[in-house]
Amino acid sequence: MEGNDAKHRKVMRKARRKRRSKMSFNAAIDGPAGAGKSTIARAVAKELNLIYVDTGAMYRAMALYMLRNGVKPEDTAAVVENCGRVDITIRYEKGEQVVFLNGANVNPYLRTEEVGNATSVISVIPQVREKMVKLQQELAASCDCVMDGRDIGTCVLPEAQLKVYLTADSAVRAKRRYDELAAKGQPCDIGKIQRDIEERDSRDMNREVSPLRQAEDAVLVDTSEMTVQEVKDRLIGLCLERMKAMEA
Ligand code: C5P
Repeated sequence: MEGNDAKHRKVMRKARRKRRSKMSFNAAIDGPAGAGKSTIARAVAKELNLIYVDTGAMYRAMALYMLRNGVKPEDTAAVVENCGRVDITIRYEKGEQVVFLNGANVNPYLRTEEVGNATSVISVIPQVREKMVKLQQELAASCDCVMDGRDIGTCVLPEAQLKVYLTADSAVRAKRRYDELAAKGQPCDIGKIQRDIEERDSRDMNREVSPLRQAEDAVLVDTSEMTVQEVKDRLIGLCLERMKAMEA
């Protein structure tokens, strides 16, 4: 009997042949902090041989620049002024996304709570978003990809073949983040993590430009009571279904 991998490869090959020189396959995954977007998007991309684009990492690199240069994230005028000095490029090394900030690989410095909180403050600024959205649209046009973020289905890739809104209860998301940090030996307070997550959700959902919300045509997946494997299987199924539809 044909295994899952072989079946996936066959669908992918057929879909690619059919749309040679046509549009690329784009899957958009949006949702609040800690819903598991990056874990799932990365795993789905790997399984289906797609490029994984982590847009949060791009905004994080911008915030890192501000923090390193003494620019307060709340000082909008200063962030806008400094935005022009920031050059962000993306490369793929051994299938992993590497973010370069003014020529230097900053991947190891992006995933801290400090950078995450500063990122949600600067990402309300229209000039910051314009720069990131342009870069993301160029990337998506050039390859078959799974892109995750907050505004991918609603703003960056409104024509994506698949849109998913991935969410989970904030207490569940806080517990997952707590477990992740604890596994790395980083001391943390679960109550504070949950408060930070809720504050970040509220900022992301209530900002004027591209607020986080479920696109009308997005599939809602609540992962509160699902295992990683279940979520991954659900999304792979959805991708394959949409790829087949592209062939038709
Ligand atoms: O997904 P991640 O936690 O890395 O995102 C960090 C922050 O970047 C989010 O809280 C959000 O404020 C911002 N972001 C955004 N739009 C995206 C991706 C991330 O505003 N497409």
